[in-house]
Amino acid sequence: MDLMLKGKVFIVTGGAKGIGAATSRLIASLGGLVVIADRDQQSNDLLVTEIKKSGGDASAITVDLTLLESADRTVEFATEIYGSLHGLVNNAGINDRVGLESGSLDKFEQSLRKNLFHYYTMTRCALPFLKKSKGSIVNIGSKTAETGQGGTSGYIAAKGAINALTREWAVELLKYDIRVNCVIPAEVWTPLYEWFINQEDDPERRKKEIKQRIPLEKRFTTPQEIANMVVFLLSQRSSHTTGQLIHVDGGYTHLDRMI
Ligand code: NAP
Repeated sequence: MDLMLKGKVFIVTGGAKGIGAATSRLIASLGGLVVIADRDQQSNDLLVTEIKKSGGDASAITVDLTLLESADRTVEFATEIYGSLHGLVNNAGINDRVGLESGSLDKFEQSLRKNLFHYYTMTRCALPFLKKSKGSIVNIGSKTAETGQGGTSGYIAAKGAINALTREWAVELLKYDIRVNCVIPAEVWTPLYEWFINQEDDPERRKKEIKQRIPLEKRFTTPQEIANMVVFLLSQRSSHTTGQLIHVDGGYTHLDRMI
């Protein structure tokens, strides 16, 4: 299926590693023009070089999205280079384990800044351009918003809000024919996930335990499998899909894990 991305412009926040990088690569491989907005300059440069070597088009801006001015800078950067914007992937985030007992109000607020506020600022700044293109927004959520995890109040509050905002924005933006959807991963092997598992006492044992609980094929979801859904939702091939929370997780969130 041709996803008709040729010549269309997409911003991917946190687009240099993990799920974001898989999304950036896929957009470019399908002829889309990808703008990577990530704070890791080295990974930005490496990915842009890789994409260009394979014949794709990509640009990167090194930004820390927790800073308020970053959203404006990112959208300006993208639209000055390419002149338009057709889609936004709000993806950057970190499960930073700010819990009830381990945290503080200050850390809770910082966690929301890392995981939530830039979804709002990026969407607001992108809006004038998405109105012109009747574009698409894909938010990346987390199954933890539905299942809880324990010890990570800030991240979960952000991800719960992202689910709610997906519905809210889908309604608010109906009048512009802008679609808004959310892809919800559970256990995806990425640099963030590896860091998270390495906090455990016995990471290898924990990895095996988790895999055993994933109903479909007893394995982690790949970043590519998340990217496939994200890019489909960005594309006009999903032209009548909006306000959806779509779990790409091998059945982890909803199927019976005792099977
Ligand atoms: P990842 O491997 O850490 O990649 C995310 C990229 O975003 C990194 O390059 C990171 O830079 C960057 N980033 C993070 N915060 C940023 C900020 N404030 N400004 C600019 N760049 C920033 O993460 P991932 O596992 O692909 O996760 C991507 C999304 O999926 C997140 O929203 C996460 O909550 C969600 N998710 C992932 C899983 C999973 O199993 N992996 C499960 C559920 C939900 P640094 O390396 O410097 O942090």
